[in-house]
Amino acid sequence: MNKKKIPSKHTDEIQLRALKLDLLSINQATLPPDVTLESAIKIIAKKEIGGIAVWRDKLLDCGVTQARSLLQEHDLVVTGLCRAGMFCGEEAGGSKSKSWDQMIDDNFAAIDEAAEINAQVLIIVAGGIRTGEKDLSAARTFVADGLHVILERARDRGVILAIEPLHPVYCANRSVVSTMKQALDLCDVLGSGIGVAVDAYHTWWDPDLHAQIIRAGPERLLAFHICDWLRDTRDPLLDRGMMGDGVIDLQKMRGWMEAAGYSGLCEVEIFSERNWWQRRPQDVVDVCADRFLGDC
Ligand code: ZN
Repeated sequence: MNKKKIPSKHTDEIQLRALKLDLLSINQATLPPDVTLESAIKIIAKKEIGGIAVWRDKLLDCGVTQARSLLQEHDLVVTGLCRAGMFCGEEAGGSKSKSWDQMIDDNFAAIDEAAEINAQVLIIVAGGIRTGEKDLSAARTFVADGLHVILERARDRGVILAIEPLHPVYCANRSVVSTMKQALDLCDVLGSGIGVAVDAYHTWWDPDLHAQIIRAGPERLLAFHICDWLRDTRDPLLDRGMMGDGVIDLQKMRGWMEAAGYSGLCEVEIFSERNWWQRRPQDVVDVCADRFLGDC
């Protein structure tokens, strides 16, 4: 006679935890900057977390072909490739500016890389205003024009673009697209193959957030980034908080996303120079998993 093994309560809990961690992704930038893509993949996969978001500089250090095989071998979903866009032709703090053609070429390269590693989306950060200029509406026109050009290439390669609106504090040097409404207005004009990445850190303050999540709907809610806004943040760029340590009601926001039809992973993205980047990457991933299960 076959002895059927009755799962103990403990086994059930472990299985449930594993199922929930399938819905978690770790953005590579959450780990200290000296962690390679290969190490990040191994640390995240060992914890049985479902996904990873990859940064282009780390991807190129690793080699795209090597990265693709590591990601497949460890069975990780790539929730995003960070990042393309920057339609003003300048990186924040960067000394060199690119011509329009160079900037478009760089976006095309990012689309090809996203296709190679089978990223669910290519994250688009709009870019700010060029050094020495003051024309905000012209900068926004550049974004619309640039997206129009690169979207065709993305559709050809089967890559989905996700515009990530950034908090208005970054309007000058990172993104002249500050709200979900602005991002969705662009999507309305551009058509298929493009949607939004909702980052809790950038959008939590917006009184229109819930309405815009509903407006986006399942077709255009393409990524959900989580972390926390520390009440007395010391630096809006590099002092992001771990989920549960700040003022964002992440459970409520996740509820809004899921009620609007979002069924993807929750991606932890924490830039934290003085706190989380000072710790062992394994410990950071452990805390991310615990907080995801308890606070999100
Ligand atoms: Zn983000």
